[in-house]
Amino acid sequence: MTSIYDFTLDELKENLKPSFRAKQIYDWLYKKYVTSYDEMLNVPKDIKEQLQEKYPMDIMTIIKKEQSRDGSIKYLFKLRDNHTVEAVLLLMKKKKKDEDGNIIRSEQYTVCISSQVGCKVGCTFCLTAKGGFVRNLTVGEYIAQIVNIKRDNEIPDNKSLNIVYMGMGEPLDNFDNFTKAVEIFSDENGLAINRRRQTVSTSGIATKIKKLGEKDLGIQLAISLHAVDDELRSELIPMNKAYNIASIIEAVKAFPVDTRKKVMFEYLVIKGKNDSIEAARKLLTLLNGIHAKVNLIYFNPYPGTTYQRPEEKDMIKFKDFLNERGLICTIRESKGLDISAACGQLKEKEANQNA
Ligand code: SAH
Ligand code: SF4
Repeated sequence: MTSIYDFTLDELKENLKPSFRAKQIYDWLYKKYVTSYDEMLNVPKDIKEQLQEKYPMDIMTIIKKEQSRDGSIKYLFKLRDNHTVEAVLLLMKKKKKDEDGNIIRSEQYTVCISSQVGCKVGCTFCLTAKGGFVRNLTVGEYIAQIVNIKRDNEIPDNKSLNIVYMGMGEPLDNFDNFTKAVEIFSDENGLAINRRRQTVSTSGIATKIKKLGEKDLGIQLAISLHAVDDELRSELIPMNKAYNIASIIEAVKAFPVDTRKKVMFEYLVIKGKNDSIEAARKLLTLLNGIHAKVNLIYFNPYPGTTYQRPEEKDMIKFKDFLNERGLICTIRESKGLDISAACGQLKEKEANQNA
């Protein structure tokens, strides 16, 4: 099913005559976040009826919302076929006021969105993987996650935000829809989210990283590395047998990165598995020659897993070891840890409650 959110502006212009209608509609969708065609006041009724028939707008609804103490909000969306996916609004910096109450810095938002219902990659630490793979999200479902969150929080159309493709599923396994979504998001006539503000996180499908690099979209790259040797990485990410660490590093080296930016390597830390200084030392060697930064992530346990959350002191030791040797390393703040943080966990909670 095609929705109105599936179209680039050019495609909509081809579909609609006179073509200025397309721009009007883009305006209603992406500047005013309307929920129905009825609200498009300057669009003739017959056109609206035709569009309603062919390209529905109501492709997802918010069925659950959890707010964390730090201001982050996690959303569970229901799709037309009743499947659900998550997205999270992260409040990176809070609004700051001076003594007189004037706003001196507005809040900064990042939205984490999903790519698939389920996932084929099957990582052993990830809840999303447990349900297997159901289907790819459509282009429109990518776009509607952001529109819904902007609307729900009354985020003004001129307020820029960052997108991270780090929700449920593997974005590069939904390559065509993902890259088209990047294009629609960045259209100045629409949501106008600069490509430099969009970061794709991948579990490391080396061939697709190459293909993405060739498209030269101008987006940022994050690699879910999680391990420094193939044996452990294959245990954590079974797909590593097909795309091993060396093949990923090679693909990253060929990826066009903005000279001011770095490729982010995400490293999920599991107690006793990959949290040693020896692993940090190997990581340093592995990333030698790459414009890289490392982001350490605390493994977030859930019922039924045998993996454990790492000790804070080991995380800090690991981080300091890299920083002292010139490799920038940060520890991901567990934003919204009190609201079922990691991907797939809100969905799981909802399913258990209904069981
Ligand atoms: N499939 C892509 C997109 C993001 S997956 C990828 O793997 O890169 C979502 C993110 O959640 C990844 O960074 C993954 O490492 C993290 N994640 C999954 N399960 C987790 C858990 N139990 N605790 C902490 N982070 C987890
Ligand atoms: Fe898929 Fe990413 Fe979860 Fe791995 S971590 S199963 S790639 S969503």
